[in-house]
Amino acid sequence: MSVAITNIGSLVTNDPNIGSGILGELENAGVVIEDGKIAWVGNSGSAPAADQVIDAKGMGVIPGFVDSHAHLVFAGDRSKEFEARMNGEKYSAGGIKSTVAKTRAASDAELEANLITLQNEMIRSGITTFESKSGYGLSVADEARSLAIAAKHTSETTFLGAHVVPEDFASRADDYVALVTGEMLDACAPHAKWVDVFCDVGAFDVDQSRAVLQAGIAKGLKPRIHANQLATGGGVQLAVELDCASADHCTHLSTSDIEALAGSNTVATLLPGAEFSTRATYPDAKKLFAAGATVALATDCNPGSSYTTSMSFCISVAIRDMGFSPEQALWSATLGGAKALRRNDIGALSVGMSADLVVLSAPSFRHLGYRPGVDQIFHVIKSGKTIYKHQDGIK
Ligand SMILES: [Zn+2]
Repeated sequence: MSVAITNIGSLVTNDPNIGSGILGELENAGVVIEDGKIAWVGNSGSAPAADQVIDAKGMGVIPGFVDSHAHLVFAGDRSKEFEARMNGEKYSAGGIKSTVAKTRAASDAELEANLITLQNEMIRSGITTFESKSGYGLSVADEARSLAIAAKHTSETTFLGAHVVPEDFASRADDYVALVTGEMLDACAPHAKWVDVFCDVGAFDVDQSRAVLQAGIAKGLKPRIHANQLATGGGVQLAVELDCASADHCTHLSTSDIEALAGSNTVATLLPGAEFSTRATYPDAKKLFAAGATVALATDCNPGSSYTTSMSFCISVAIRDMGFSPEQALWSATLGGAKALRRNDIGALSVGMSADLVVLSAPSFRHLGYRPGVDQIFHVIKSGKTIYKHQDGIK
């Protein structure tokens, strides 16, 4: 079964060999999908015959968004905390604990239903691959079941037992790290691909974070890290030291942090929703791009500090407030996310890549930043199959 998408006004391939600029943009383009993969890319008029033809009617097509940072296994919401913050209170890592209590009290079915609701929101927002972390169970059984639930819906699962020190381990952080790196890791590793730690003020220090990541690596997990969200510290340097796939947040970066990222295989993943929702200062992506670092954008969807599943929203904020060009923002939300997950089969639309793509209801990707808050996701295809199509409900 082959599918041709023709009459594409602007196609983002993310392959500079195919089209112009870093996005490899091609106008009046066509794409042919076969067996779930991109089989042909070129001028719409030259598209080879296919079993099915989708007329894009001059609209834009982009690779599906790759959300490399999300926390989808939890119960409850923290809208009151958001309201208090918007009324002047400061964000601290401690708020996580209120979600932990609700998550522990929820059934597996409740946690999974919530994850599915958020996953469906992501699909409607054009996200075709998402990562999800544990981190709201913080006990052996609750972390393990969080990951088992996430693993039913994504292959990109991350063990984040070291999210914060739970209240039952108050002033015994080292005992908790011993649990995370021992019994909890043993229970969680079968369901996880990645290991993560919140290395920041009020969470875990650099030595504790190194112990968590090294224990995970020894169990066969790959490292990633929450670093430098609340303050400059050693998180980014630790990420580079351990060859983490990604250092996430990067809100507060020193010049040496930027140089270290630029000279490494560690992606700097920026999370605009977190600064937006905690009214924090935005990081300056211009400095990262100027140094040559690889930058990703992700939603950080979580109930406390960034309760959004909209990559288009993140792109708007990144362009408006974080120094991204529209091209850089689109690249970071697609191929950048793929690199943050060390995936080379998604995030671009050249021949052989997975056919994960979005037909927009706009002539090009530029409208994502240009029309903030407007739903312009029309048709979402993953591995060649339609997973969402916008049906216009207004009569
Ligand atoms: Zn996070």
